[in-house]
Amino acid sequence: MNEYYKEALEMNGELVTNRRMFHNYAETGFELPQTISLVMKKLTEYGLKPYIVGKSGVSCTLGQSGKTILLRADMDALPMSEKTGLNFAATNGNCHSCGHDCHTTMLLGAAKLLKQNENKLKGTVKFMFQPAEELLAGANDMLSAGILENPKVDAAMGIHIKVGYENSNVGSITYAKGTAFYSGDAVRITITGKNAHGSTPEKGVDAINIAAHMVISLQEIIAREIPCTEHSVLIVGKIQGGDTVNTLAGNAVIEASIRATTQESRSFLKKRIREISENVAATFRGDAIVEFLYGIGPLYNNPILSEEIANYCKEICTEEKVKEIPTACGTEDFTSIAEQVPSIMINLGAGSIEGGYSYSIHNPSMIVDEKVLPLGSALYAHCATKYLENNL
Ligand SMILES: [Zn+2]
Ligand SMILES: [Zn+2]
Repeated sequence: MNEYYKEALEMNGELVTNRRMFHNYAETGFELPQTISLVMKKLTEYGLKPYIVGKSGVSCTLGQSGKTILLRADMDALPMSEKTGLNFAATNGNCHSCGHDCHTTMLLGAAKLLKQNENKLKGTVKFMFQPAEELLAGANDMLSAGILENPKVDAAMGIHIKVGYENSNVGSITYAKGTAFYSGDAVRITITGKNAHGSTPEKGVDAINIAAHMVISLQEIIAREIPCTEHSVLIVGKIQGGDTVNTLAGNAVIEASIRATTQESRSFLKKRIREISENVAATFRGDAIVEFLYGIGPLYNNPILSEEIANYCKEICTEEKVKEIPTACGTEDFTSIAEQVPSIMINLGAGSIEGGYSYSIHNPSMIVDEKVLPLGSALYAHCATKYLENNL
């Protein structure tokens, strides 16, 4: 058995305790006081010197000169009430239903393992515990605060757990070579018309009618303008407008989200949403203001690094359990890092449907197989060690 994995299994009790504490805290966005405090306390206990980066990220380094690999975990929960019924469930209206409590725990475990083996390292490992992944803002905040500098980072690795799928049992790993996740953007379109009594529609401008035409017209970008070889998604998830049944609506608001596999398609979608919205509104004598609220580009797994890290994973999880998969339709703010340095994010099985773990991420009933914790710690530590050994 791999040495790191053996050592990680020996500290399983500590990993489970840590994970249950993070799970119970379930803090969201950039406001993670209890979570950060435990991360800092544990890193210090392991002999490291953690410091805050940006609004509420935590970092530290170990090893010696040479190349630097960054290991990343996200720490934030989601604002939804937990429904697992676990005795360590969060009770504050939030829920670790994306598994970031596991990511934080696994990376803390890796820090302990690597510190214990620091003299064997052929380079530097930098740790990145980031806030606000669910807001697609935390990685960018740490990036602006210099997470990739001093020492300069040469490559980065992240892990996301995968639960509630067939074959997503602990020990299985999937990864994409190239584009791993879609881009994601949220757009708000505010339509201004003119109120009028229902008996005199000619005196008004119907914002709801404009919104209806807009919803249909926007789909034509997907149906007619994006090549069929480049899959994109556009959904209108929210629409509001009008005051009362017998009056033309003076205002309406549409909120939509878009996903694309390339920056080119993403930019094209944004450009055409603006053009179509403004023109449809003008056609029916109204106005439209288009605002892009937040967004992130597609996550690109560097193909060479992906191949290399996948091979290291196979040394722990066996050849047949590490599989390459196509692009997945989700989004990840690890993109902000991957746009700057060669990076890879792997998906690590943490419970399968056939094993009784039927709820997937972002479901408040999701339960994770905690056997993933020592494995995740070992994978982070092993991949970093081997990367530094083979990239002198
Ligand atoms: Zn999530
Ligand atoms: Zn997540």
